Amino acid sequence: MNIALIAHDSKKELMVQFCIAYCGILSRHELCATGTTGKLVAEATGLHIQRFLSGSQGGDQQIAAKMSCNEVDILIFFRDPIKINHQEPNESHLLRLCDVHNIPVATNIATAEALIHALERGDLDWREIVRD
Ligand code: PGA
Repeated sequence: MNIALIAHDSKKELMVQFCIAYCGILSRHELCATGTTGKLVAEATGLHIQRFLSGSQGGDQQIAAKMSCNEVDILIFFRDPIKINHQEPNESHLLRLCDVHNIPVATNIATAEALIHALERGDLDWREIVRD
C-alpha cells in the first residue's frame, strides 16, 4: 500500500512518535511524505520514505498529484486545528481529493491508529483492486 505522511509543524513530533510506534507495520509499505515530515520520520525510524518538497514549497501539491493518479492508498495528515499558518499545506484541498478518490484519511492519531490496525488486518486490501 502507498501511504502518504504530512504533519504541520506543531504535529511533527506526534507524527514521529506514531511512526516509531508502528515502524514494523509501516516498513512493509511504500511511504512518501512532504519534505520536513519525511526527513524527521526517516531520521527517527530509519524507514525508507520518498520525500517531496517541503509543504511551503509545494510538497503537498506533489502528494495531491499522486492522490489524483490513484497512487496514494492512505493519507495520514496530522494538522494543527488551532493555529492557521498560510505557509502550511491547504488541508481542504487534500481532504477534498480523499473524498473524490475514496482514500482513507486520518487527521488525528486516534483515526491513524484505527487505520494502521485496519491495514494490518487486511481491511484496506480493496484499495489495491481499485488501483489496478
Ligand atoms: P513539511 O510540510 O513536512 O515539509 O514541513 C508540511 C508543512 O508545511 O506543514
